[in-house]
Amino acid sequence: MEELKRKIREEGIVLPGNVLKVDSFLNHQIDPELAMAMGREIARRFGGAAVDRVLTVEASGIAIGLAAAYALHVPLVFAKKSKSVLMTEGAYTAAVYSYTKKTENQISVLKRFLPAGESVLIVDDFLANGEAALGMASLVRQAGSRTAGIAVAVDKAFQAGHDRLLADGYRLESLAVIDSLDGGTVHFRE
Ligand code: 5GP
Repeated sequence: MEELKRKIREEGIVLPGNVLKVDSFLNHQIDPELAMAMGREIARRFGGAAVDRVLTVEASGIAIGLAAAYALHVPLVFAKKSKSVLMTEGAYTAAVYSYTKKTENQISVLKRFLPAGESVLIVDDFLANGEAALGMASLVRQAGSRTAGIAVAVDKAFQAGHDRLLADGYRLESLAVIDSLDGGTVHFRE
């Protein structure tokens, strides 16, 4: 998606550890025009697939998840990373190792918001090692639903997640695919 790539070229900052900082438009400050355009593009790509619900994980997946759910006219549910006293009901949980925080989180969704027998589209801002996406796919499986596909804004395809998700048979749609961040420069896959 050219608009996203342009924004990454203009504002993205490459940090040590193969981390791309895009906090000026994607995951701290949010560009609403771009977010909605990304949602429309995800909806277009999954237009033919029956999607009942979008699943993402807090916090940085919520904006793009909402945009995709809005464009698909389905509900958005986001997995939570910390236990809350409000979560008194049964929940599905999965362990996810955080790429940026270097800690393991339990992600969870109330069973009520992940009904059985649905087709669920997983959406996230970044794909690195695939931990978040696979954790969410586990929640979907526990619920007795199927994953319609996985859509990410930025796919760092040189890391393990891209191949892991494809090897596991998931349909992966990435709005910008990065082949390397070598030398502090973003090299996109054409
Ligand atoms: P994974 O679970 O695929 O290893 O990593 C994806 C998660 O880690 C995403 O939810 C995202 O929040 C975070 N992440 C991974 N790599 C980056 C990166 O280069 N930049 C930013 N801003 N977040 C990242």
